[in-house]
Amino acid sequence: MTEARFYKATGDGVRCLLCPHHCLIKEGKRGICRSRECHDGKLYALSYGKPCALAIDPVEKKPLNRFMPGTYCLSLSCTGCNLSCRWCQNSDISQAAPEDSDHTTLSPEEVVAACIKNGLPSIAYTYTEPFTWWEYMFDIAVQAHEKGLKNILVSAGYVEKEPLNEILPFIDAANIDIKAMDDSFYREYCGATLSPVLENILAMKEAGVHLEITNLLVTGLNDSAEQVGKLCEWMVSNGLQDLPLHFSRFFPRYKMTETTPTPKASLVMARDIALSSGIKTVYLGNI
Ligand code: SF4
Ligand code: SF4
Repeated sequence: MTEARFYKATGDGVRCLLCPHHCLIKEGKRGICRSRECHDGKLYALSYGKPCALAIDPVEKKPLNRFMPGTYCLSLSCTGCNLSCRWCQNSDISQAAPEDSDHTTLSPEEVVAACIKNGLPSIAYTYTEPFTWWEYMFDIAVQAHEKGLKNILVSAGYVEKEPLNEILPFIDAANIDIKAMDDSFYREYCGATLSPVLENILAMKEAGVHLEITNLLVTGLNDSAEQVGKLCEWMVSNGLQDLPLHFSRFFPRYKMTETTPTPKASLVMARDIALSSGIKTVYLGNI
């Protein structure tokens, strides 16, 4: 097992400091993300080297429309997420422990070698929450850069500053999903909070990462003109109007199978609001 970074011993367990949940994890137990476990007073990253999903995707599928367009990337994922969005499209792996999912075993060297062998210029850390398998992502990302490959992060951005800052020099592009510009929405529907996400987006922009933003519009929850307007207002007031903004259409999934897909009119309305707010580039996804 690989010892985790970013934790401190508490006497009867550990406190994980990787994400703002700061889980207090007793001996033999795991944190909210199901992928970090305490043994003998140490914290271990359980999914290290155990990717449960590997694919070759167009980079536009991440979605990144303005980063190396027309190229393909090696998409890689391990189980685990520190959020619990009720509509999660990948809940079978995001809300699972490593032992609950089929996986292969690949060292960071083997991942990089597979990328090169397939003639791919980048690796995308995606499908679940890559920050919950930070150690594996970091080791791959460092070696990928040494071989001239690019690293792409697809994330909800809910991570503490120290792990973020340590990995940022190795991240070339990121798509960060803002769930809604509303803290109570984050708490009720995602099991997280808003402000760390916004702070981290600004930190990534400051670090020079190519950034694109996604906002999944869920029928009746966050697809109002008011909600969309608040998101666009925040982006413009923070100088992020040049970042491509992707509004994505919800389809019934996970705990929201009774909810109808987002009306197309809501996505068109969101695009109109964003453009009139000053956002330069808007895309509609899943439509
Ligand atoms: S990374 Fe996982 S174990 Fe650590 S604080 Fe976040 S949810 Fe808890
Ligand atoms: S952050 Fe993404 S992977 Fe995690 S639960 Fe939400 S939608 Fe699923």
